[in-house]
Amino acid sequence: MKTLRTVLQEAQGRGDAVGHFNVSDMVLLKAVLAGARELDVPVVVGLSEGEREFVGTRTIGAVVKSLREEYDFPIFLNADHTHSLAKGIEAAKAGFDAIVFDLSALPFEENIRQTKQAVEALKAINPSMMVEGEIGDIGTGSEIHDKAPDLAKGLSSPEEAKHFVESTGVDILAPAVGNMHGLLKSMVSGETKKRLDIERIAAIKEAAGTFLTLHGGSGTDDDDLRKAIAAGINIVHINTELRVAWRRGLEQGLAKMPDEVVPYKIFPPAVEAVKQVVLSRLRVFTGKRKAA
Ligand SMILES: [Zn+2]
Repeated sequence: MKTLRTVLQEAQGRGDAVGHFNVSDMVLLKAVLAGARELDVPVVVGLSEGEREFVGTRTIGAVVKSLREEYDFPIFLNADHTHSLAKGIEAAKAGFDAIVFDLSALPFEENIRQTKQAVEALKAINPSMMVEGEIGDIGTGSEIHDKAPDLAKGLSSPEEAKHFVESTGVDILAPAVGNMHGLLKSMVSGETKKRLDIERIAAIKEAAGTFLTLHGGSGTDDDDLRKAIAAGINIVHINTELRVAWRRGLEQGLAKMPDEVVPYKIFPPAVEAVKQVVLSRLRVFTGKRKAA
């Protein structure tokens, strides 16, 4: 089985990005795997600290490893938004392929100091684990927000990106380029879309020369996503869109079968709703069109 690093290099060579989808139950995991297998493209599933606490860090490590073997399919596991080295070590020991070590809320030099330490400690446990660092401000919470945070001051500069990557030794960088976590209500309804600073992405790619992740991809304009990938984004994170689909699908299942108590009869509409979002996003990230 290829490593995540090889998969990212190959995707970059094709001009594709790899989709990263957050999961926190079997409905989401089944839907992500089904979508990726249908298009035959590699995929990353991610769990934040909160999502890992619910699912179990060792449990998801074992489940994803098992799926990878059972289907002989390139599904990878990422420890999303990890805020302490202790939690990072737990994920490394559970077999995660990658980690987002996120100290972006700290002052820049402190973020560098602690991220560098984390890179060394995590690679001592698993040398092939890919470590991602975060700079800038893209807000928190993959949920529905009432108002937009002011992200203008938190945008990343190419100089910062270069300095951060060189000083820490991270494999992947997550910059702030107009993206944000979560969705506004107007984005859930589709009235508004997130827009990205494509020139900034290209300048950061040039300066940092490393893999780049776009966090908070939900609700982003499709053309901006394509341009961002062409400008150097390698991984795109989608979480809130899946959560919205999960809830709507679940509500549909419950409404259709008001007296049903069997979970595996209630959940299929939720799996299908999430899978449709995964398919549509993977088509944008990889340029794969629905077979006629
Ligand atoms: Zn994120």
